[in-house]
Amino acid sequence: MPLIDPFGRTIEYVRLSVTDRCDLRCFYCLPKGFKDFEEPAEWLTFHEIERVIKVFAELGVNRIRITGGEPLVRKNLPELAQRLSQLPGITDLSLSTNAVQLKRYARALKQANVTRLNVSLDSLDPERFKTITNGGKLDKVMDGLMAARAAGFSPIKINTVLMQGINEDEAEDLVAFCIEHGFTLRFIETMPMGETGREAAKHYVDLQKIRQRLAEKYELIPGVMPGGGPARYVQVAGTELRIGFITPLSQHFCETCNRVRLAADGTLYLCLGQSDKVELRPLLREGISDEQLKQVISGGIALKPARHEFNEKPRQIVRFMSMTGG
Ligand code: SF4
Repeated sequence: MPLIDPFGRTIEYVRLSVTDRCDLRCFYCLPKGFKDFEEPAEWLTFHEIERVIKVFAELGVNRIRITGGEPLVRKNLPELAQRLSQLPGITDLSLSTNAVQLKRYARALKQANVTRLNVSLDSLDPERFKTITNGGKLDKVMDGLMAARAAGFSPIKINTVLMQGINEDEAEDLVAFCIEHGFTLRFIETMPMGETGREAAKHYVDLQKIRQRLAEKYELIPGVMPGGGPARYVQVAGTELRIGFITPLSQHFCETCNRVRLAADGTLYLCLGQSDKVELRPLLREGISDEQLKQVISGGIALKPARHEFNEKPRQIVRFMSMTGG
């Protein structure tokens, strides 16, 4: 039986966080100097991840996105990707990364059947990039992007969290950059996830206004893009560029939600913007059977909330974005 939640939404997509750790400290996600991460012993092992995803696949899930923190800091990640790509029913395996280590792993990820990449990139200015990420090196990200393209990844989606007074003025530059390199561009609104997310919310930009601003410079044609994500796309006339707008606050997309999130420690979060969860790790380590695991997961989906309450209760979510990935 497919996983259908109380609102009639079919859950076919799992965002899989393989670590809460990251090699950057984007100010809107992880506090500078943050060290209070989960211990590796608390992470699901590759075998446990494979078991859970296999069961999800038997329940109709066909899309897996590997996220973090930063997934490339987890050792032997291409091996896990290879194993997940072999699972019956999984037809789409993608990965979100900050690309700092992508130059090293691009070819191995491609060979491991990762089909699509999303790369976080909030600025094209090396100094500003360094400030936003608390020390990140932009040239490493650029090297990673070029290595991914050379490895044959397409489309490569650029994810930019647009923030007032921080990088909002770069929207047009990012459009030009993506036209030049053949990337897809997605602008994302800030979300009040944890204290860091609430700090970033002070720089909130309504993406409807950015779309209007871009429409003054480009002819924007409403369009679609493959992938189970929430972005609303336009195409820039005369180019291959598609721009996506991910607008959880100004125009949420919860009615068509098709996903849940599995954190590195085996916590199944039913909604990014809520705290409803099911702890799978203790059950896995107590020897739960696959059939029992299906019952537990189905039971969890029956508790899936209708939507986030980021606007109504901006202080509700205490966990950082890095715990589940976006
Ligand atoms: S906020 Fe929750 S309900 Fe809305 S799209 Fe995200 S996960 Fe789905």
